[in-house]
Amino acid sequence: MATSTQIHTRVLKCDPSSITFPISSDGADPPPKIDDPETLESLTVAARHITNGEPIAFPTETVYGLGALALKTEAAARIFSTKGRPADNPLIVHVSSLSMLRQLLPVDYIIPPMYEILMRRFWPGPLTLLFPSSPSIVPSIITAGQPTVAIRMPSHPVARALIALADAPIAAPSANSSGKPSPTRAEHVARDLGGKLEVILDGGRCEVGLESTVVDGLRDDGNLRVLRPGGVTVEDMQNVLDEEIESKETRPAVLVHRRDFQDAAMEKAPTTPGMKYRHYSPSVPVTLLHTSSSTSPPPAHASVVSATEFFASLGSSAPVPHPIITKIGLLVPSDSQLLRFAQDRESIEWVLYPLGAVADPAMTAQRLFDGLLTLDEKGVDMILVEEIGEEKEGLAVMNRVRKAAGESKWIAL
Ligand code: AMP
Ligand code: MG
Repeated sequence: MATSTQIHTRVLKCDPSSITFPISSDGADPPPKIDDPETLESLTVAARHITNGEPIAFPTETVYGLGALALKTEAAARIFSTKGRPADNPLIVHVSSLSMLRQLLPVDYIIPPMYEILMRRFWPGPLTLLFPSSPSIVPSIITAGQPTVAIRMPSHPVARALIALADAPIAAPSANSSGKPSPTRAEHVARDLGGKLEVILDGGRCEVGLESTVVDGLRDDGNLRVLRPGGVTVEDMQNVLDEEIESKETRPAVLVHRRDFQDAAMEKAPTTPGMKYRHYSPSVPVTLLHTSSSTSPPPAHASVVSATEFFASLGSSAPVPHPIITKIGLLVPSDSQLLRFAQDRESIEWVLYPLGAVADPAMTAQRLFDGLLTLDEKGVDMILVEEIGEEKEGLAVMNRVRKAAGESKWIAL
């Protein structure tokens, strides 16, 4: 039930390095081993809230999640009310073991060999797979009434230990108000959802920084369709398939939505994040800057302006000595060519948040949401984000940036 009264939110520390997962020889799932007493206490408190049907926030390797029992409709409903999430946007269910996965699937369902390969190579990790869903097992609030359920096994020790201690699958979207950038540090969650949650587990900065890759491998042609690019790259998946399946004829293709395939039905449904709803947007306008190193040529209607001209057009023209200061956030690679154009002017204060080097898209992925949230917090009036190449993590980065940006400009360097 939604509640408007403020809750005292406790931020509880967890040390991920103190958690290990023993492997048993008899196929059972032994409980995680937690050496640090504070971490054990934090996880025990959090698991108790989860078991009581309350949502809590916790770190995963992708972003911070807002978790609640997946198989209890009332618990899952509190995720939607806490985030203000539209009811037709389905949730990903997180498991801590393969036996927990089995409990979610129709009884006689045989997991496809392709999924067995992906799970062996990428689980636990930032890969979400669609499975057929039985409404008698997974409540329709989770699947938004679709015939499939999205499932993943997170690799973050705190996430996996929490699920194991609660001993139940946990539904968890990102722990932010719907439409905002996803949180990658506990402070981001506290700023946004503080007062609405009992507990935020603080396990430090998320390593991947962007959400999981969502893959549908259930279609008749056997190909893998990437519905949302994310932490596991298309190149990683392709390499694994090349290694594991010798014959080219039987090797499935990895197809990326909108790049390699279109799907009219899917595009109408809200099951592709950002297709229907505003997404990843800070409170100030975001402009995407395509540069001449751009992978995609400007569309016919776009006008290309020189970098000098573009930067000169920013800020106010109020006369010195009383210029109106515009604070402009720059979210660009640390070795960006654009930086030399962002020169000192009386009417502009630049606030730089460097993403990784151009050659390091994994670092850019890790820093993107933190950059949007940090610049927003610093009170900038607008944020300029520079395009990066769509190789490896760059594909997921640009997927999020396009959805965050209200407008695009093409700049000639
Ligand atoms: P998040 O917003 O990170 O929690 O991820 C949830 C997203 O996963 C949804 O917006 C969908 O894009 C995708 N998803 C979850 N369940 C399904 C499903 N049954 N079919 C297709 N996509 C799904
Ligand atoms: Mg989200």
